[in-house]
Amino acid sequence: MARALLPGGMTLPLIDVHTHMYLPRYMELLRQRTKVPRVVSRAGGDRLIILPDEESDDSTSAGRPIGGEFHEVSRKLAFMDTHGIAISVVSSANPWIDFVEAEEAPALAAQLNDDLEAICADSAGRMLGFGVLALQRPETCAAELRRIAGHKHMRGVIIGSAGRGRGLDDPDFEPIWKAAADNDLFVFIHPHYGVGHGLFPDTGHAMMLALGFTFETSIAVALLILRGVLARHPGLKLLIAHAGGTLPYLAGRLDSCVKNDISKNFGLPKPPSHYLRQCWFDSIAYHGPALAALEAFADPAKIMFGTDHPFFRPHVADDVLDRTTWPSPEENLQALSTLNADRQKAIAYENGLAAFDVKLP
Ligand code: URA
Ligand code: ZN
Repeated sequence: MARALLPGGMTLPLIDVHTHMYLPRYMELLRQRTKVPRVVSRAGGDRLIILPDEESDDSTSAGRPIGGEFHEVSRKLAFMDTHGIAISVVSSANPWIDFVEAEEAPALAAQLNDDLEAICADSAGRMLGFGVLALQRPETCAAELRRIAGHKHMRGVIIGSAGRGRGLDDPDFEPIWKAAADNDLFVFIHPHYGVGHGLFPDTGHAMMLALGFTFETSIAVALLILRGVLARHPGLKLLIAHAGGTLPYLAGRLDSCVKNDISKNFGLPKPPSHYLRQCWFDSIAYHGPALAALEAFADPAKIMFGTDHPFFRPHVADDVLDRTTWPSPEENLQALSTLNADRQKAIAYENGLAAFDVKLP
């Protein structure tokens, strides 16, 4: 069985709850497109151009290299074996099907969800899945969630922090929250559009991914909480990407600002941090101090290991990529190794086994 050797000396299996694929059907779609998001074939390999404004900014217009590690199951398994990952909960990568015409989106979501279920069913227990929803047609989503709940390997859905462009406190999303909670499915909240673009020109992808992404998630989840979604749906299982964005660090400030605001009463029975603590978090914090902040804040049973594969690929030739140790999982394992042995085990795999009701293969 795949096991990782952590810097402190522990050897543990890992359950990776934040790991993406562009499914083959979706890759085809990206290749056919002439506008962002798209995949462009260039001399030297394919390039992925998905982020807003990416093509018009000189520092990012070439996109990012994209190879089989983004869409081939065998490459995902090779990455898992190299890094000691026993089980991956695979989700589609951003921007999901946000750009698809509303009439076509529900059928495409169902096809992609069936594709992912088939891949997971064929993986000998190595893969589970988070599906996608046609958020541009919110009235179709509860039925798709109920359908997914009948798929043996699906454990929930991934949705963008922007929702369908109106945030996660979109009133039309109420049936989504209810159906996810009723069917015991996770909703994995992940950024794509970023915030603050105009504030950091000519910074490549760095500022957008480090700060734009994390604040996008933080704002979306904070608003969802302030508008009472988690108060109305206490059984809703939200998994928040990138160690909660910035929220575990800012939760006390959010409580204080809400309490002291004489101009607005959100009418929440409890402080926002109470609802935030109901959520699950991946451990993608990249260094010990940030993971320590998450540890100090979150329910200890609700932090789970993640890698964000296949993003942040190391700069090596494609033929050695699968045998190369990737920095992103290494940095997150280094952070994990700063915790005590029980906490390392809980985050590495025990919490994932319990959350997804699964056994190690
Ligand atoms: N970059 C992306 O576009 N998505 C991720 O999930 C991580 C990095
Ligand atoms: Zn991700």
